[in-house]
Amino acid sequence: MTALRLYNTLTRTKEDFVPIDPQNVRMYVCGPTVYDYAHIGNARPAIVFDVLFRLLRHVYGPDHVTYVRNITDIDDKINARALERRGTRNVPILDVVRELTEETYGVYRDDVTALGCLQPSAMPRATENIAPMIAMTKTLIDNGHAYEASGHVLFDVSSKADYGKLSRRSTDDMIAGARVDVAPYKKNPMDFVLWKPSDANTPGWDSPWGRGRPGWHLECSAMIQSTFTGTDTIDIHGGGIDLVFPHHENEIAQSEGAHHEHPLAKVWMHNGFLNVEGEKMSKSLGNFVTINELLADWPGDVLRFNMLRSHYRQPMDWTVAGMRESWNTLEKWYDIVEPIPGTDVGEDLLAALADDLNTPLAIAELHKSRPEELAGGLALLGFSVKPEALKSKKAVDTAAIERAIEARLAARKAKDFKESDRIRDELLAQGIVLKDSPQGTTWEVKK
Ligand code: AMP
Ligand code: ZN
Repeated sequence: MTALRLYNTLTRTKEDFVPIDPQNVRMYVCGPTVYDYAHIGNARPAIVFDVLFRLLRHVYGPDHVTYVRNITDIDDKINARALERRGTRNVPILDVVRELTEETYGVYRDDVTALGCLQPSAMPRATENIAPMIAMTKTLIDNGHAYEASGHVLFDVSSKADYGKLSRRSTDDMIAGARVDVAPYKKNPMDFVLWKPSDANTPGWDSPWGRGRPGWHLECSAMIQSTFTGTDTIDIHGGGIDLVFPHHENEIAQSEGAHHEHPLAKVWMHNGFLNVEGEKMSKSLGNFVTINELLADWPGDVLRFNMLRSHYRQPMDWTVAGMRESWNTLEKWYDIVEPIPGTDVGEDLLAALADDLNTPLAIAELHKSRPEELAGGLALLGFSVKPEALKSKKAVDTAAIERAIEARLAARKAKDFKESDRIRDELLAQGIVLKDSPQGTTWEVKK
């Protein structure tokens, strides 16, 4: 197979991937903050790094890859939700945090399983790694990288000469990007929190600096250290592009500061952002879609396929039209491969994936491949290849809807509004709602 090449955010180049230990390739990806249901943007890193996990397993052997995805279950948004949820109940706040995060993480796990993602090798929780967080903070104070001030422990950014090497930002940009609160106890506005005090209504743990809780960045550095034992440096660290600064920059500062400047990761990989129908997803725009609600209407394989049609580093636009096309393609392919148990993987497909996970090219190769290779390729990419899953999902026949939309358009052009209304009402009776816009007509399943 052609050598695996990956784009490294740290060097801004595509590099040959050479594992530190081919017997144990180590990858860490920042996982979800489990305060609410995950949205379709959160599905992107889950799927992208699952494809990489599968590719690494294919190349190095299934027993030679360790993929860790953490669970951020301590965070201010979680604390706020937990406080609301506790209401007047007389229970420790940490118990309510556990209740909430168990519930949301359970949904996340089921969602990403439905998207065809393999279970990572380990899924450490922040709340179960407080001791290594305290230990790392102590180390950083002892070696001059951190200081205590007003019950907080802060990382002293001026102590690390190469701070900013991942994001390559100027100091001014960093200050603006971090939206740093200029607290009076900070030596430098860019200094970030390793440990902060907790009041009685906030989860906290005893520490040499009083009862408190870790900063978000510290959680990952400590979980990497405690999960990947015996090494300071892992092969791949991943997450969404929004994490480059400050999160990953600060993980590097902490881990290198605590580990004799040994690099935290050789390769830093970041997926681009996902927008919905051309717009940034946000609750206020009303275009916020959770994985869970999409799975009620669409098979997981269709969501996965739609995601992989874009290269992971490019921004991607999530559209219903794209989902429809994805469904049509998969339906066609599943009819071809159904009787074939596929393990053959075409060289062209592998070459596309080996070139920095070029999934759009991989899909183009699948279009050209023989049925045996199509079956093998779909399996390698993590598709269930269960035709019944596509058919039984709901009685929506996407091709028929498309034909009806076309017929309605033709009727409108001919000014036959009676006919165009009839078609719209007929679809509505089947639970399909049409939406007209200057860009054309889209449809969705009625809620
Ligand atoms: P969070 O739960 O917010 O910490 O995010 C979990 C993961 O999802 C991180 O790797 C984020 O970078 C990623 N992520 C969040 N929003 C999007 C988006 N709209 N598109 C792509 N990735 C995203
Ligand atoms: Zn992280």
